[in-house]
Amino acid sequence: MSGYFTNIIDGLKSLAIGLGITNREFLKKPITLQYPHEALKMTPRYRGHIELLKNPETGTHTCISCGMCANGCPSKSITIKSKKVPGVKGKVLTSYILDFTTCSLCGQCVENCKPAAIDFSNAYNLASTRKEDFIFNLLERLHPEGVPEPVVDPELLKKEKEKKAAAAQKAAEKKAAAEKKAAEDAAAEKGGEATAEEKS
Ligand code: SF4
Ligand code: SF4
Repeated sequence: MSGYFTNIIDGLKSLAIGLGITNREFLKKPITLQYPHEALKMTPRYRGHIELLKNPETGTHTCISCGMCANGCPSKSITIKSKKVPGVKGKVLTSYILDFTTCSLCGQCVENCKPAAIDFSNAYNLASTRKEDFIFNLLERLHPEGVPEPVVDPELLKKEKEKKAAAAQKAAEKKAAAEKKAAEDAAAEKGGEATAEEKS
């Protein structure tokens, strides 16, 4: 008989606890958002696809085209192109392609980037039926209005021109010396043949 009452008390206790939790949650502010009219605020550590970061001082990225991100990517999802521009130190980034269809968001590229030129974006709602929509040119995404021209350093440009001119002069001197030596060798050879003919 005592077991009967114990069961009733346990049941009531359980019911009270359950109702307490329900009431507590009922009074909380709802967390449901009316997506897509309302957007989620992502946490700072959320990992969307990688993105080139804009330096507020220069208005462009700080990528030095070292290729460490691409080389360290286990999925080979990054392809970088760069070129040398006269008067600009190092190489200038011309294209940064991310194939997000193969990216595993491992973070190796972000870790490898010494100038901290890339980081994860907050993009969480990418959707498309086309594979091409997940292949991004991060440089164009950073500058949708057009990639700005690199800033030329006049001093560096002058030094590069002087260096180029010196190298060209050196090459010309080397070529002239080689031609002179070839002419001398040919003359000596001709002289040797004439002496041999005279003797015979
Ligand atoms: S997060 Fe990983 S897989 Fe994705 S691009 Fe970077 S290194 Fe490659
Ligand atoms: S993003 Fe960073 S690691 Fe990749 S090429 Fe640019 S500077 Fe190098």
